Amino acid sequence: MTLRRQVELEGGRCIGCTACSSSCPAGLIDLSQHNGLRRIRFSACDQDCQICQEACPTQAIRLVPGEASVEVSFPLLACRSCGQPDQPAALLEHLRICLQDILPADSWLDICPSCRRKAEGRNLAGQWLKARE
Ligand code: SF4
Ligand code: SF4
Repeated sequence: MTLRRQVELEGGRCIGCTACSSSCPAGLIDLSQHNGLRRIRFSACDQDCQICQEACPTQAIRLVPGEASVEVSFPLLACRSCGQPDQPAALLEHLRICLQDILPADSWLDICPSCRRKAEGRNLAGQWLKARE
């Protein structure tokens, strides 16, 4: 029988990136976003697995014996373009540090995916029209 384990988060390391909830094959890490708040809830786990631990970019997760659920929440910063809630400040800061050597001055990091797609579409359309001139 597989030992039942719970997630223990190393203090302050979780940045709310959702890599763990996206990669859990058993659906035990629940992600929800309402009213400008991102919540991640880790249920106790009885699977022979450590994917969430390996997927975490900040080594925040430890799987320890136990039955408890753990929840963290993060206020979401607004997208610079549309103003809709987008991502946690801790995640944005982490990305800025990781990408500082390759980011352009007018970074897209604080723009939401939807606005990025629209901007890229406008950019491509502009290039296409210019090529036809
Ligand atoms: S150990 Fe595997 S199954 Fe268990 S919570 Fe993490 S990713 Fe999900
Ligand atoms: S992958 Fe790590 S940093 Fe990202 S939400 Fe999960 S525990 Fe937090």
